[in-house]
Amino acid sequence: MPNFPSEEPERLRQRLQEVRDRMAAAALRSGRAPEAVRLVAVTKGVAAQAIQEAILAGVSDLGENRVQEARAKQALVSGSVRWHLIGRLQRNKAREAVERFHLIHSLDRWPLAQELVRHGDGPIPVLIQVNVGGEPEKGGVAPEALAELVDRCRTQPRLRVQGLMTIAPRGQDPRPHFARLRRLAREHGEAGWELSMGMSADFEAAIEEGATMVRVGTALFGPRTAHKHVEE
Ligand SMILES: *Cc1c(COP(=O)(O)O)cnc(C)c1O
Repeated sequence: MPNFPSEEPERLRQRLQEVRDRMAAAALRSGRAPEAVRLVAVTKGVAAQAIQEAILAGVSDLGENRVQEARAKQALVSGSVRWHLIGRLQRNKAREAVERFHLIHSLDRWPLAQELVRHGDGPIPVLIQVNVGGEPEKGGVAPEALAELVDRCRTQPRLRVQGLMTIAPRGQDPRPHFARLRRLAREHGEAGWELSMGMSADFEAAIEEGATMVRVGTALFGPRTAHKHVEE
């Protein structure tokens, strides 16, 4: 965990304001109100104290990519926030994920959907992650297989599919990938579906292409120290 010197709260507030300003400008460029795009602050590898500062500064949505890491942090921070699971989910963590997260962004296979609905009692809100770049090391259903997964999920009343999520491949123009996710949502989804796309390096492009949620870590909390997380 990185340490958290005392000048950090102020810097965090500045970065948060900057990110919000850039988000708002991108929303306006895409013909939407700034409120139409939600910021999910990605806190993987971020110390609990910094997360608490972010909550005090007005952050309402936190993204973690591991169930275990969220468990540790949820015990340490307070405030009314929504937790988002943005990383790959193993079936043996499905129960805990349902309990701990308000929205799971990374549903990408039917067996996992079946496992999720075995737990909890209310409807389970999920996004389906799509591997738009066709990258074998990343999670996400292939675009060609999305329709079938959506159809199967529709047969399961306890699953509430609320939209799609993707991670654009690094080192390429992300726009065509974001545009593709938006087209897939139009083809296979419903009005009001969310699009979770865009990270520190590309959230403005994502908003211009229709993102309703961006997942931003580094631009808020600074570079992560050497960390064993795989970015997916
Ligand atoms: C780490 C991560 C992010 C945030 O990445 P930054 O480049 O630090 O903004 C967003 N989405 C997912 C799925 C991640 O794993």
